[in-house]
Amino acid sequence: MRFDIFTLFPEMFAGVFDTSILKRAREARLVEIFLHDIRDFTTDKHHVTDDYAYAGGGGMVMKPEPIFTAVETILGAPPRVPVILLTPQGRVFNQAIARELAQHSHIALICGHYEGVDERVREHLATDEISIGDYVLTGGEIPAMVIVDAVARLIPGVLGHPSAASNDSHASGLLEGPQYTRPAEFRGWRVPEILLSGNHAQVAKWRRQQALRRTFERRPDLLARANLTDEDRAFIESLKQQNKS
Ligand code: SAM
Repeated sequence: MRFDIFTLFPEMFAGVFDTSILKRAREARLVEIFLHDIRDFTTDKHHVTDDYAYAGGGGMVMKPEPIFTAVETILGAPPRVPVILLTPQGRVFNQAIARELAQHSHIALICGHYEGVDERVREHLATDEISIGDYVLTGGEIPAMVIVDAVARLIPGVLGHPSAASNDSHASGLLEGPQYTRPAEFRGWRVPEILLSGNHAQVAKWRRQQALRRTFERRPDLLARANLTDEDRAFIESLKQQNKS
């Protein structure tokens, strides 16, 4: 999958994209990431990319010309791939949106900065707007990293184990239950015996119940949308009864 990222600060991405799983995914060509410095697409002597907001309001706004030129030079006009504007006003990113984006072979991300970008970018260039949460960051670079990371790990082959992503929190609508590794006992705290039993069916049942319990305790709102069996519902009912007593 290819990501084109349009930013004023390409140097911010070093480290995140050059380490660990994303680094290996890029080396294996499962993920291709192209960083484009919007400043390179200015035509004036001083490479100006921002200007004062019309009618005041404080702060600088990113100018439309360099952003349009950058995106259209790299992707054509009009671009034939999703062009996502990072903005705190967009639809709020979650695992379902990550899955949706992972269906594409190519997406573009535009990172705003300062007070944001000229509205005409949103109206006439972006095809989608995504926020990574209800708070405001200084720029779209960290949101772009978040989206690339969350989407890339859904691409087959990026994670070592094929089912790793499907067991994660939010993948099935539930939170994942607790996980343990060696040693079996640490400072007197033992790993649950069931995990050492070798009984795969019982372990699977325990894991499911732990996921249900954790979701019930921490994010009961997720249970309303989760795909639950009759057995799951009976287990949740027993948790509710325990809570009452
Ligand atoms: N004035 C803008 C507003 O109130 O909507 C906020 C601008 S913010 C300081 C600068 C840039 O950071 C935005 O253009 C956007 O690209 C990025 N940004 C900030 N918070 C974000 C969030 N929660 N999700 C996605 N992008 C965000």
